[in-house]
Amino acid sequence: MLPPLSAQALAPGATVGVLGGGQLGRMLALAAARLGLRVHVYAPEADSPAFDVCAARTVAAYDDETALAAFAAAVDVVTYEFENVPARTAALLDELRPVRPSPAALAATQDRLVEKEFLASLGVAVAPFMRVDDAGAMARAVAQLGRPSILKTRRFGYDGKGQALVREGADLAVTFRSLGGGPAILESVVPFTKEVSVVAARGLDGAFAAYDVCENRHENHILKFTTAPARLAPETAGEAVALARRIAEALDYVGVLAVEMFVVATSGGGEALKVNELAPRVHNSGHWTLDGALTSQFEQHVRAVAGWPLGAPRRHGREVEMENLIGDDVFAYGDLLRAPGACLHLYGKSDARPGRKMGHVTRIRD
Ligand code: AMP
Repeated sequence: MLPPLSAQALAPGATVGVLGGGQLGRMLALAAARLGLRVHVYAPEADSPAFDVCAARTVAAYDDETALAAFAAAVDVVTYEFENVPARTAALLDELRPVRPSPAALAATQDRLVEKEFLASLGVAVAPFMRVDDAGAMARAVAQLGRPSILKTRRFGYDGKGQALVREGADLAVTFRSLGGGPAILESVVPFTKEVSVVAARGLDGAFAAYDVCENRHENHILKFTTAPARLAPETAGEAVALARRIAEALDYVGVLAVEMFVVATSGGGEALKVNELAPRVHNSGHWTLDGALTSQFEQHVRAVAGWPLGAPRRHGREVEMENLIGDDVFAYGDLLRAPGACLHLYGKSDARPGRKMGHVTRIRD
């Protein structure tokens, strides 16, 4: 076996444990294999897309402590591909193996209220928000923040799920109950001109590397297109990366972090940024880096959690576009295979349900 680069670094041939078996876990496993690392995927669903391409698998629930202990014993470091890893699962694993990003970083980013309070404490601009635990708090928050505003569940929201727009005339108690009546936050609607994200990585040694800020377009609340670089003033792009760095450093973060932001036009004709959401993991808006950058976000995450040097995030080409293949979109795969310049990625999912991310395609423009 090759020697490790440092006492804290994994040696080639070591095993990275990944919690979660979706397409992100699959692409992490492929990237790790290229670097001579093994991936052991832990997921509850037997048909997880990542299982097709990993060296070892555990099919078990996230609260199965016997299975978690056996998983920890079989891996050298633990990471995850989704932020809803239960806190107890992360804590239990952290006693046995390094968990990267840390359980503290996970805790700061898996609850929208905790996340927004953390960002505000760093002086990062966010939409005005208020905590909503019951119908009374809902009425007070709407009185304060006005309409339209957006009610979001504190946890388990994604792709527009767990959100409700509070319009003029909407019945507040009904809206609150429509999201299950659990802990939520109300946010002012941000009149954004663009949605952008910064996908960046921080290494075990504190090194920081950001990809170009990218621009995201959603359809039906699901990311459809990402373009890199985003059309932003250079100083706005610089500020976006500086915000991501400040956040990563405050969390003593190790791994890839995605920071979703709104771009707002200022009265003086400039651009201001408001952070919407953090993802403590590789992110859909970073998929363009697989073909469009020297080091993909997946390789970068593996390097970071392995304690290896980060790779260069430099972009190929003038512009890179990523298109998500959602539901039926995937039936165009034949045309995409034939199209010159289209780089196709399919996730190995058999059932093209509406709204399901089935693959993506990248195009590099020179
Ligand atoms: P989220 O789940 O927080 O990422 O929200 C999903 C999408 O809803 C975002 O990408 C925005 O398009 C929209 N959205 C969320 N929060 C706000 C907000 N405060 N103001 C305007 N649009 C929002």
